[in-house]
Amino acid sequence: MQDFTGIWLAPGKICPTDHSPIRRKGRPVHSHTVLLTFRPHSSPKKFLIIALLDVKAYLVIRRVPHNQATFNSSFGSSGVTQNAADAAWKTYDYVVVGGGLTGLTVAARLAENPSTKVLVIEAGGDNRADPRVYDIYKYGQAFNSDLDWQFPTERGNIAGGKTLGGSSSINGAAWTRASKAQYDAWGSFLKPEESYLNWTWNSMFSYMNKAETFSPPNSEQRAKGADAVNDYHGYSGPVQITFPSKMYGGPQQGAFVKSIQSAVGIKKCADISGGDANCVAYTPNVRESSLNGHCNLYAHQSINWRESDHRSSAASAYLTPVESLRKNWLTLVNHQVTKLLWTTDNSKFAYGVEFRQTDVPCTPFQVYVTKEVILAAGAINTPAVLQRSGVGDPALMNPLGIPTVLNIPTVGKNLQEQTMSVLGSSSNGFDPKGDGPSDVIAFPNFYELFGREAAPRASEIRSSLDRWATEQASNALSAKALKDIYGIQATLILDNKGTFTQHSVMALY
Ligand SMILES: Cc1cc2nc3c(=O)[nH]c(=O)nc-3n(C[C@H](O)[C@H](O)[C@H](O)COP(=O)(O)OP(=O)(O)OC[C@H]3O[C@@H](n4cnc5c(N)ncnc54)[C@H](O)[C@@H]3O)c2cc1C
Repeated sequence: MQDFTGIWLAPGKICPTDHSPIRRKGRPVHSHTVLLTFRPHSSPKKFLIIALLDVKAYLVIRRVPHNQATFNSSFGSSGVTQNAADAAWKTYDYVVVGGGLTGLTVAARLAENPSTKVLVIEAGGDNRADPRVYDIYKYGQAFNSDLDWQFPTERGNIAGGKTLGGSSSINGAAWTRASKAQYDAWGSFLKPEESYLNWTWNSMFSYMNKAETFSPPNSEQRAKGADAVNDYHGYSGPVQITFPSKMYGGPQQGAFVKSIQSAVGIKKCADISGGDANCVAYTPNVRESSLNGHCNLYAHQSINWRESDHRSSAASAYLTPVESLRKNWLTLVNHQVTKLLWTTDNSKFAYGVEFRQTDVPCTPFQVYVTKEVILAAGAINTPAVLQRSGVGDPALMNPLGIPTVLNIPTVGKNLQEQTMSVLGSSSNGFDPKGDGPSDVIAFPNFYELFGREAAPRASEIRSSLDRWATEQASNALSAKALKDIYGIQATLILDNKGTFTQHSVMALY
């Protein structure tokens, strides 16, 4: 049986896995302690109509270090390869599952220590030289192609990058941040004993800036409306953030600012990156084009003006610049992790992963870790890897022949996605004067958006939380857990007047 991510759900039956060197040689499995932690991964701006908190998680499965000689392996290769033999049966300090936004970011930081050996396994190929990836003006061409997982839903596909850099290689590359209160709300999910983690805007702000090299607008761009607050940005990180070289100078962007101000009363601010996103602002962004029948969109984006406004993806930002320098970091592309390898002594440690060539249903390989397997395969594929590894709901896994390692019934549930609506209108033929990204974005709050309707709508939302939580309970841990989440979101939206929706202007629609 094959699941929607294209991996065989009963890999033990399809691809025998009992031939790893460890088992063949009958080596004893070491005893380890268990540390299993979920770490929310920041995605700076997500605004849903129901506005549930957007938290992406990656999982770190850690085992205590053991003698690497246990596996008698060597670390010989670095760079990017599609040859499984360069990685198979070897031992690394860290194996990162998924070479997307999270995976490459984490791997790059780990590999800064030259004595740390890192392997990234990426299901997609290395398509950095493909214009569908690097040319932001070709946005949309990657959708429904070999670069897209095309996750099926009842109403069409959800896109997801199946390529080095993951979704950061095919996305709209908008570079914005949420408001302080939204980051602070993450801390509400911590248990008292986890409070030392200090999930707040203040604790994360320096890391947001650590990621970016911001190029402030030049005088020509400023004359067209671009603005920035220098203190809100970083200037030495790997991700390139800027306004497009041929920024639009026609009437459309100014008209959008005036219209939305007059329609909802939202304030205009110079830069939304400082913790107050509830405004309309010129933001660093790029145009998304209408190719292959996909609708025209505009989104603000991470681009590199030094390289003809090419996309600044996780791959081009975190991997390319150090690819030949980091002799301790290997990235294996076109190979898909099928499952985690667990110790058999009930200690529930992942000592490695099994992988195989992407979309080829057999010939599994293995690779081993001394420290951690880091799951960064995205919001849909990470739970899928966990479930194939026996971490999830036994009622789902056991009928498929997957023995339960950890009973965590919520794995793979409660997925939340953005919704999007597009309104278009013909222009009177004005000259948009420019090219590239559209640069204006507005994040109104609930009260601005609903105006006179806000009070009754707010009361309707407050009185519906219990019912919604009960109705959705089977898709989450429990009605109570969902009610907690909904309550935090309602507080953000209704009490703190947090940002509620995202509005962008598009020229040449
Ligand atoms: C169409 C689209 C537009 C978007 N626009 C924006 C935007 O404008 N601004 C913004 O900030 N965000 C945007 N996003 C969201 C953003 O790209 C994602 O939030 C972010 O990339 C998620 O990072 P991730 O590391 O969790 O997953 P990804 O970046 O998707 O990386 C997951 C990686 O894991 C790989 N993988 C999956 N399964 C396996 C496996 N079993 N073995 C090995 N590898 C595996 C995948 O191929 C992929 O490369 C957009 C997303 C999409 C899809």
